[in-house]
Formats: sequence, C-alpha cells, structure tokens
Amino acid sequence: MQANPSEPLSTPVIAAALQVPERFAISLLDSCESTSTLLLERAQQGAASGSVVVCERQSAGRGRRGRVWLSAPGDSLTFSLLWRFPAGMPPPMGLSLAVGVATARALEEMGAAGVQLKWPNDVLADGAKVGGILVETVSEGGCHVAVIGLGLNIHLPREIADAVDIEAGALSSVMPYAPSRNLLLANLLKALAAMLDAFERSGFSVFAEAWQSRHAHAGQFVRILAEGVEPIEGRCIGVDRDGALLLDTVSGLRRIVSGDVSLRPA
Ligand code: ATP
Repeated sequence: MQANPSEPLSTPVIAAALQVPERFAISLLDSCESTSTLLLERAQQGAASGSVVVCERQSAGRGRRGRVWLSAPGDSLTFSLLWRFPAGMPPPMGLSLAVGVATARALEEMGAAGVQLKWPNDVLADGAKVGGILVETVSEGGCHVAVIGLGLNIHLPREIADAVDIEAGALSSVMPYAPSRNLLLANLLKALAAMLDAFERSGFSVFAEAWQSRHAHAGQFVRILAEGVEPIEGRCIGVDRDGALLLDTVSGLRRIVSGDVSLRPA
C-alpha cells in the first residue's frame, strides 16, 4: 500500500484488511483518555473478547506504573484489544513479551528492519523505542481477562522526541515507506489473534525462542531498577519459559519477574 501519512483511520478499511473481521469489534474514537482505561471499563460491563478501541487523540495515554504514553494525531497508532482467556487457564505469564513477538512479526511482514524487543515491554527499531506495550489483566469468575494496549510511532514529532527521557524512534525510518495505519492495525490484530490462540494452548514457552532472537540486550550488561530496592546488575542470558529475565550476576543466576522493574544498559 502507498505511503499516506494523512490517511484517516477508517473502520471499513480496517475491516476489509482483516481476513476474519467478525473476530473483532472495532470502536474507532477521535478522542478519549486512554484506550486501555476505556476498554477495562467496557470489560467490566461485559464487552466481548476481541473488542478493540482505537483512538486518534489520547488525553491521558498510559505506560506502566502511571508513566505517560505520548501520541500525536495522524503520526501515531494507539489501540487496545480485549481478550478473554478460557476458564481454568493459569495466569497469562509472559503475555506482554508474546505481544512483543506478535508486534515484531507484523512489523517485519510489512518490511520493518531492525525490530528488537526490550524486556519486558518495549518495541525498538535501530535501538530507538518505536512502541510501548501495556498488558493489564483482571480476573473475572475464574477467567483471566487481558487488555492489551499498544502505542506505536509511525512518525515522531519533535515535541514527543523532546518530551521523553529515552531515545524514541519512528517506524517510518525503518520501513520502506510510512505504513498505512489502517493496514498496520489490521495486520497487528491478525498477528495478535494468532499469537493469543497459540498462547491459550501453550503459554509463553512457544514464543521464547522468537523473543530471544529479537532480544535487544542479549549478552549485554544491564541494570534492573525497582523502587525502594538496590539495583541488580548482571549480564542478560535470555528469558525463561515464563518470560522471566535471566541475569548472570556476581551472586549467581537471578530470575527477574516482570513487574515494577525497569531495565537500563549498565
Ligand atoms: P522503561 O522502558 O523506561 O523501563 P517502561 O517500559 O515502564 O519504562 P512504558 O510504560 O513502556 O515504559 O512507556 C512509558 C515510557 O515511554 C515513558 O516514561 C517515556 O519515557 C516513554 N514514551 C512515552 N511516549 C513515547 C513515545 N511516543 N515514543 C517513545 N517513548 C515514549
């Protein structure tokens, strides 16, 4: 599809690009606080698995631990997907890493080069952060319900680059042309649904290798930061079958479970 940065988001265009449109119920909004906040509310009201909220202008886009996710109309793609796991399935450990794998696959299929994943939830390209993943889960009558939020920079306006404290990047710099956001969203939803089907059967373990092959810090020395505790330093070995980060430290192998921790190069 041709480059068209100003192409408006359109539900019929997204539905036409989806092979199984009936699997998703897409709600396209011009503005909201946060697609994930809204979808969590809709989940409580009984919204179906496969419900999607995509929004052009988020006034309070969120990352983990109350961090801010910034986006700009026309230049970003921000959406959330609701998924209800079958009764009896264990908590979806490693889901945010599997979302990273699905995202990387969709981007690569559209020609993106140099896509890497930073544990636990960032999408990088050429070393710069082009996307953020926020997975929030709730339990409802013995079933786990996930709201998967994804924010991607198609282009990176200067005001966002200047406002963030890390190196941010844009997909348009690593793709042959700026992707159509409608097609990108459709491809991401297809990749996420395929991933979720496999995740329901086998958990994160079937994605561990695919994650490791894109691991941005493989073999590197990193520092793990968490509030109120001493940082942990060590060399990244990889991830285990639950998505925990394995770190070779002076006191032996440490297993870091995703949660309220941040990873920084040491
Ligand atoms: P970190 O990656 O620093 O450990 P995190 O994974 O907890 O943090 P997220 O919750 O994924 O971070 O995203 C929030 C952070 O991402 C913000 O604190 C900001 O630094 C950065 N950020 C916010 N908006 C964007 C954006 N559009 N592009 C790139 N980075 C952004």
